[in-house]
Amino acid sequence: MKFTRFSNGSSVLQGVIEIENNVIKEISGDMFEAWEFTGETYSLQEVKQLSPLVPNKIIGIGANYVSKVEEIPATLPEIPVFFFKPTSSVIGPEDEIVIPHSIDEVKFESELAVVIGKDTKNVAEEDVLDYVFGYTVGNDVTAPQFFREDGHWIIGKSFDTFTPLGPVIETELDPFNVRVEARLNNVEKQNSATELMIVPIRKMISYLSSVMTLKKGDVILTGSPLGAEFVSAGNTIECEIKEVGTLRNTFISEKKKTQ
Ligand code: MG
Repeated sequence: MKFTRFSNGSSVLQGVIEIENNVIKEISGDMFEAWEFTGETYSLQEVKQLSPLVPNKIIGIGANYVSKVEEIPATLPEIPVFFFKPTSSVIGPEDEIVIPHSIDEVKFESELAVVIGKDTKNVAEEDVLDYVFGYTVGNDVTAPQFFREDGHWIIGKSFDTFTPLGPVIETELDPFNVRVEARLNNVEKQNSATELMIVPIRKMISYLSSVMTLKKGDVILTGSPLGAEFVSAGNTIECEIKEVGTLRNTFISEKKKTQ
């Protein structure tokens, strides 16, 4: 099922998309637990799709892809590099990514984003998927110009608009059998299978849950394939996982906006 949040101009609504019919069937309730169809339908063209959820918290993992399977290290990092992104950085499909006024470029990072569906602590690797609600596409926009030499990443990951999510949460995805792609102005920049992750999804989520309770609505950005680049204002990035959809955003400059 493909869950979406959308605006009909006056209200923020939730629904399930039927791509083949080009419609959204509105739902009410809590999509994670108990919901029902309201009977209302909307055509995809008449609404604005929003980020498919307002995350409870957002966690990313650093440098998590190799270029080929043989390069996956035999010994995984004992303490993987994770970071938080603020929920205030979330935007939806088609929204603009704002490049902060003090810099000219930021990096895009197309990623598979895991949406947690049930609270969990100390989950075993083999049980991780029981706590996953679904998957969306994330763009972990990054301004490494704000990274500290000691490895402190939070500022460079946290500007408003730096976490596009969407277009939907797909609940029936096989996360081990998809490709994470990015196209910059229609030119392919990233295209890797998720089997190229260094810390795989089960291990990542099991580890995180050994540290903190993962909650319904948490989003985990699972890392970006090789090929992320710096881009400037005026460019359009499409992050895609075919089975989920395409997350398309254009970069603008905060400088131009304020002048
Ligand atoms: Mg990333």
